[in-house]
Amino acid sequence: MTRAAPTICTTCPYCGVGCGVLASPDGAGGMEIRGDKAHPANAGKLCSKGSALGETVDLEGRLLAPVVKGQETEWDAALDLVAEKFRTSIAEHGPDSVAFYVSGQLLTEDYYVANKLMKGFIGSGNIDTNSRLCMASSVAGHKRAFGTDTVPGQYEDFDEADVIVLVGSNLAWCHPVLYQRIAAAKKARPEMRVVVVDPRRTATCDIADLHLAVAPGADAALFNALLAEIAARGAVDRAYVAAHVSGFEDALVAAQASDPSATGLSAADLAEFTRLWIGSERVVTIYSQGVNQSSSGTDKVNAIINCHLAMGRIGKPGAGPFSVTGQPNAMGGREVGGLANMLACHLDIENADHRDAVQGFWVSPAMAPGPGLKAVDMFRAVEEGRIKALWIICTNPAVSMPEADRVRDAIAGCDFVVVSDITADTDTAKLADVILPATGWGEKDGTVTNSERCISRQRPVLPAPGQARHDWKIICDIAAKMGWAEEFAYDGPAAIFREYAALSEVAGRLGRDFDISDYKTISDAEYEALAPFRWPQGPMKKGGRFFADGGFFTPDRKGRMLPITPRAPKTALSPQTPFRFNTGRVRDHWHTMTRTAKSPRLSLHMAEPYLEIHPADALRLGLRAAGLAEVSNANGRAVLRVLESSRMQPGSVFAPMHWTGQAASDGRIDALVAAHVDPVSGQPESKGCAVQIAPYQAA
Ligand code: SF4
Repeated sequence: MTRAAPTICTTCPYCGVGCGVLASPDGAGGMEIRGDKAHPANAGKLCSKGSALGETVDLEGRLLAPVVKGQETEWDAALDLVAEKFRTSIAEHGPDSVAFYVSGQLLTEDYYVANKLMKGFIGSGNIDTNSRLCMASSVAGHKRAFGTDTVPGQYEDFDEADVIVLVGSNLAWCHPVLYQRIAAAKKARPEMRVVVVDPRRTATCDIADLHLAVAPGADAALFNALLAEIAARGAVDRAYVAAHVSGFEDALVAAQASDPSATGLSAADLAEFTRLWIGSERVVTIYSQGVNQSSSGTDKVNAIINCHLAMGRIGKPGAGPFSVTGQPNAMGGREVGGLANMLACHLDIENADHRDAVQGFWVSPAMAPGPGLKAVDMFRAVEEGRIKALWIICTNPAVSMPEADRVRDAIAGCDFVVVSDITADTDTAKLADVILPATGWGEKDGTVTNSERCISRQRPVLPAPGQARHDWKIICDIAAKMGWAEEFAYDGPAAIFREYAALSEVAGRLGRDFDISDYKTISDAEYEALAPFRWPQGPMKKGGRFFADGGFFTPDRKGRMLPITPRAPKTALSPQTPFRFNTGRVRDHWHTMTRTAKSPRLSLHMAEPYLEIHPADALRLGLRAAGLAEVSNANGRAVLRVLESSRMQPGSVFAPMHWTGQAASDGRIDALVAAHVDPVSGQPESKGCAVQIAPYQAA
């Protein structure tokens, strides 16, 4: 008689909702998947991607052994080579001649040791993450307004709000379980109102009472108009502002100088939006990549936060600004200082006291003296030969970075490139000198943090295949080979988590928001059994909201309102490139499809890359529905299937980001995206480039 395999509680590896998953291995390499009813993020629900996880864990295409210059080799030889190349580069050209480019797919423990190695031992800030492309503008906006990268609210606020405003967020496709949560709350309380601010009429508009088809990039103009109206109608919470807010007057002057017509909205729509916002105590503004992926993304974030601060609608049940993260552990990466301009536990790399505190805690030999290169600048430095050894962990920048063709060529020209991944078949791995086999979802062991600061365990369900190792182990093995064996001698992820929790106590003493020091003595068994929990865990605010009564993390403890002057997308439209090109996700695929392409039913939703275009534009250009269009600009080209849709505004087109080169069509759309970045956050403008479009003519 065979015994049923135990069911494992783990977490979905896709979006930042962070749903709990129950995985039951079938004994033949697969698994049955159910939603975890006990997990606070999803209460048993899963979307199409999460429920198909069991179809994506086979070993076809998996990298099972280290590869050096195309030849399988032993771990020891591969690690020796990587350590030697990094050591040599550092000795000859300094610590800033090397870089790590990592991923929001990494677990927190992986992220922590990668940052410790680069920032505390190599002594450079040159570690950045693909989360730079996802939510860096939210981080920068939070830091400007709150003094730290704090998400003030939690998912329960979505149930309790009277008005939910979704800005630049196709929640129905990109965070489906949160969308279902809001739809259910609206059904239970029909008086709830949902406003969607998006140039496209996305699937999320199906539950919208008001869709504001704002002009592309005009979100800051919209929230400036709202702030001016809040003041004009005497709706400012004067007591809250006087006690807890700085910068109100300057922000208001800038808002009043802003032109509401730049929103492209009718006076009636603006008036209705203002009426809903001002007339409801409980307003949650959820925002995502449509706000962040902009050359003025940080300003857009602060324009939203300004309105919440002016009315004291923050940190209270059903009220607050809320950024939802794209990746499963984008938030955990932020918490461990995964961005080049941060330190672990929300400490600041630009603050000498913070650097000293972290260096003292790590007893490290060479602390980074300041921020390193952000993603776009990092690959420019690779292109220019300033980065001579590059380690890319769990991400595919040759496809996903803006100006992807240029990035691909830069990686190809770099002196030494290491890639750790689950497959050698990505566009990036194909360019590497060394490819190291890593464990993937279902095998990995550690923690992730979702969009509402809830930390949950990802647990192994299947054994590591072949010679694959966990990312934290690979990083520690390299650190040991570079001479820091003792400092990276962890016997498992629990040991890393304990150290990280202990470091958060140091951060708490320095006045930071992130403190999980209750867990600094967690045993291996307790870590194994760890239930999802939301920080902060201090005695004052156990799992609660921030900022209802002030207490911001700025020097004067006040929330900062910023004067915002709206700016158009950096690339102007021209007669040669007259279309605004918007990029994003589809419902059933994830990033560059390494995993989701394995599930035929996920591919049924959208089988190939496409260009969504208004029928009038298609007619004018001579495009046939379901024919092929060539989309191009000075940066690159893509060939995409035509999808006519009146959900688009004329003059604006959309394409999904997931596909790499295909036979009939070529969906490498990030080749078209200009590498313009937000000056504060360094986040690229992935939704605002300009393109020309023509019927595709086969050569
Ligand atoms: Fe996974 Fe996100 Fe779907 Fe939840 S909503 S199952 S986290 S992809």
